[in-house]
Amino acid sequence: MQNFKPELIFNNDAGNEGERLNLTLCGVGDDKVVLKLNEEQVALLNMRFTRSFYVRCKKERLLYDIDNAGSYIELEEIARKNYLCDACEFSDINLYGVKRLLKVVVEILYKYPRLRSKLCFIGTHYGMEKLLIRLENGDESALCSFNLQYICTSENAKNLGQFFHKMLTDLISRHERYIATAMSAFGLFDAVLLDRNDYEGYAYLQFISNLRRDEEEGFHPEGCHVPESVVYHELGHLLDEMCGLSGDPDFKSFYGSLDRDDIGNGLSEYALASPAEFIAEGFAEFMCNPAPRPIASKVGELLDEAYKKLK
Ligand SMILES: [Zn+2]
Repeated sequence: MQNFKPELIFNNDAGNEGERLNLTLCGVGDDKVVLKLNEEQVALLNMRFTRSFYVRCKKERLLYDIDNAGSYIELEEIARKNYLCDACEFSDINLYGVKRLLKVVVEILYKYPRLRSKLCFIGTHYGMEKLLIRLENGDESALCSFNLQYICTSENAKNLGQFFHKMLTDLISRHERYIATAMSAFGLFDAVLLDRNDYEGYAYLQFISNLRRDEEEGFHPEGCHVPESVVYHELGHLLDEMCGLSGDPDFKSFYGSLDRDDIGNGLSEYALASPAEFIAEGFAEFMCNPAPRPIASKVGELLDEAYKKLK
């Protein structure tokens, strides 16, 4: 699952503030917010759009630390200290579930470091909502949580909070239960969100047994019977958006060469929903199945190629 594609428009402010740029964020329906940015803020924003994960230690060391953490607070600290995301909130997810989530994030950042530009938040949507409400109420420290304090000023913190809170509410309201979702938000508030209703207590066990059933029935791809596959699926959406794979001519011709039976039998039923879901499902199998089938292998290969072409 993912949200709609938001749009970002830059234009010169022709008013008295000639040196400023207008950045228009277009959201749900006609919802818009305009940020007036000076030259330095524009430069910082461009750096934010292209930032990369910075490797500080061996991947194995980080995975070991995650495995041995004793509380969600410790895991939040590991995530922040190692720059896995800007903000996170794990208190609503069972400890084992958080560890599995974080290990996937580590794996993907070591493989695709540029994806860090779209990992502004990881955790439950309640955690994300709390931060956005703080912004909405003018609490500037919430800007710091997202490392946005030098790009956005306190005067637009409220507008941003309102705008992105609405986007989040819209995204979540479309599904009663969603397990996990990717939120695409201009590189400012992009997130991987988990549904706490599926990640606590008995529901988590139920969720895992449902994954096995969904794989057996072909609703999800082969190898995707583990919670990691759900996270890879969402990260696949973010990678697709970052690399623009859905719009890539090579991808389009490959996708166009397959009929519904090819996709349903060779990947998954859910992959039939849209090209974006096809990519996310293919990527999940590519990462989770030790011997990915031809469609998943091709999706992985195309994503790798598109990633290499990033400026
Ligand atoms: Zn999806």
